[in-house]
Amino acid sequence: MKVATDIDSAGRASASPPLPVLGQGGRDAGGAPVTVPPCSAIEMCDVWVRYGKSAPALQQVCLNVRQGERHAIVGPSGSGKSTLLKVLKGLVPTEHGTVATLGTPVNGKRAHRQLRARIGYIPQNLGLVSSATVLQNALMGCLHRVGEIRSWLGLFPEAEYRAAHEALEATGISHLSDRLAHQLSGGERRRLAISRALVQRPEILLADEFLSELDDVTAEQVLRGLDKAHRELGMTVLMVEHDLQVARTFCDRVTVLREGCKVCEVNGSEIDDTRLRDLFRGVAAA
Ligand code: ADP
Repeated sequence: MKVATDIDSAGRASASPPLPVLGQGGRDAGGAPVTVPPCSAIEMCDVWVRYGKSAPALQQVCLNVRQGERHAIVGPSGSGKSTLLKVLKGLVPTEHGTVATLGTPVNGKRAHRQLRARIGYIPQNLGLVSSATVLQNALMGCLHRVGEIRSWLGLFPEAEYRAAHEALEATGISHLSDRLAHQLSGGERRRLAISRALVQRPEILLADEFLSELDDVTAEQVLRGLDKAHRELGMTVLMVEHDLQVARTFCDRVTVLREGCKVCEVNGSEIDDTRLRDLFRGVAAA
């Protein structure tokens, strides 16, 4: 089985650096702090996916994302990035291989239901309810805490309203709270989808091109909001990102996909834009 390698900007193989430790540490006999390595939030091993009889959308893909890690998936259009996120969300079945999120195998409706609240997903089409207001859409992030009946009746606790308003503020659309989702611009809709994910407070956030259509200032504002949520909640973030600079500067790790295969995985801090672009385009060997 082909195993993708870690490389530095000069193309040398390297080990992953330790990430900031989340979770409980302790002290050794000498009183020095002991760091507990975070466990995997996402594990994929030798995953193959095929739509119908066509060529595999993913082949031999292995991915290990540690809890609290920020990880970007980059690659040309059609390389399997969205499919990879859908597999993790349990929306697309695998033909072969094993997949687990938060230590639970992703292989059926039951697991999907159990994990739904713990895994946030911003799909490319955003999945907003067009006929609901901005505030109502944001509040949908807390359905798993409030329950369906109370939410149908609009009986959200004060704390959830506060969380929704804070999330809308973090993404800069709190002034649009009463507007219907279908009346928003593309960028505003995207910010709403991110707000809803922030309200959900998932352990893993899967985000598919969530910054596209945003201008630079707004994208930076949204990234700051996500950075805050990541730090406060210890959230694991796996994002498909077309902007290679954002991918390598915002994320600890970057995985490059091409034609359904994982080409390599690199440390964001150890690669420059040129080399990452060359890997992306397939003009540099991993
Ligand atoms: P990316 O996100 O990198 O653009 P995708 O995961 O969307 O790539 O697609 C990977 C491959 O799978 C592409 O060849 C695409 O045409 C194909 N594909 C994606 N979704 C479907 C589908 N629902 N039915 C058939 N083929 C699909």
